[in-house]
Amino acid sequence: MNSKKGIAILGSTGSIGTQALEVLESYPDYFDLQVLTAGKNADLLIEQALKYHPNSVVIGDETLYQKVKDALWSEDIHVYAGEQALCQVVESNEVHTVLTALVGYAGLKPTIHAIEAGKTIALANKETLVVAGELITKLAKEKGVNIYPVDSEHSAIFQCLVGEFQNPIEKIYLTASGGPFRGFTYEQLKSVSLAQALKHPNWSMGAKITIDSASLMNKGLEVIEAKWLFGLNTDQIDVIVHPQSIVHSLVQFEDGSMKAQMGLPDMKLPIQYALTFPQRLPTNFPRFNFMDYPQLTFEAPDRKVFKNLDLAFRVMDMHGTAACSLNAANEIAVDAFLNEKISFLEIAEINQAVVESATNVLTPSYEQYVQADEVAREKAREFIGKV
Ligand code: NAD
Ligand code: MG
Repeated sequence: MNSKKGIAILGSTGSIGTQALEVLESYPDYFDLQVLTAGKNADLLIEQALKYHPNSVVIGDETLYQKVKDALWSEDIHVYAGEQALCQVVESNEVHTVLTALVGYAGLKPTIHAIEAGKTIALANKETLVVAGELITKLAKEKGVNIYPVDSEHSAIFQCLVGEFQNPIEKIYLTASGGPFRGFTYEQLKSVSLAQALKHPNWSMGAKITIDSASLMNKGLEVIEAKWLFGLNTDQIDVIVHPQSIVHSLVQFEDGSMKAQMGLPDMKLPIQYALTFPQRLPTNFPRFNFMDYPQLTFEAPDRKVFKNLDLAFRVMDMHGTAACSLNAANEIAVDAFLNEKISFLEIAEINQAVVESATNVLTPSYEQYVQADEVAREKAREFIGKV
């Protein structure tokens, strides 16, 4: 019996995936890397496979299968391709924890498979909980599966809750850096460029989440993610802008006491905590120095200018497939913005138009989520064609 913890990393070539590999590399006696997967980046997947020797690799794009297979022919590594393979590799007996570090709706299906197979989930892929939080949390409960958050804000809340499981949460405060356009007026946002939107002040991340951070959609998605992770109502979740990104989030308990988790912004810490909970393993990450941050500041987000945040709060109250439709619209709109087909403000306009035109199915089945996603994508493409 393998005493090390078997890990599958879905999306190993991305920002979270590559940082997770650095974490695993630091603790060879603790982790056993079993699975690496990527969407299209075959070159980096091959490089990672040759360096870390996982049991299996999956390339999402089936046209790249032969390339990966040829490059790894002399290695004792199973090579697979396609969505179905992604779902199957997480079920392996050797896998204990699945780190879902792929981006977007594509994370939903493999996460369901991993939960059904009883695997612990280290969840970076927030879209999974936004799209189908009701279904995922119910399934996890049925299967006795723990979902540990990787998102820094949710990891902060989770860390504050250790030792408090009997004590109800009164409220949580999710902190937001405010992104590159903090303080901008609606008028100023009309002319911002793609290059400006891609420059996040504090974090280096994948393209989609970087744009989501600039539009505050990321915080909106995180509000919905928090609702499902911690079983909260809309009025128990607040967002506060904290430009230094040192206080990663806060919990307020029923006696009025507040707990915060702090530290320098570095995703390796929440990734590691999700993989080693309840243990904290020693690191040599740089330490926070108060003298470097004589002021930590807080301000209210502007929900009138950053309409995506407001929309996320509204959608959360709608339940059903509404958040699934919002997520689908946003994936299409962000992709169009990244390809310079629409302006920055049109992202929120398209999101709102799609949510308002969507049929909200309450207590949806998996198939109904899939359908809501398809319909919303189609609608978003239609709206983009018109702008
Ligand atoms: P990224 O774009 O850097 O990486 C995404 C990874 O997923 C890549 O390995 C890519 O090959 C793979 N992938 C993409 N589409 C796929 C598909 N259809 N099928 C299979 N694999 C696919 O993204 P990221 O910044 O690492 O973010 C990953 C997830 O983590 C997102 O859900 C994001 O919201 C969340 N997250 C990221 C950060 C961060 O600091 N980057 C912080 C908190 C949460
Ligand atoms: Mg976050």
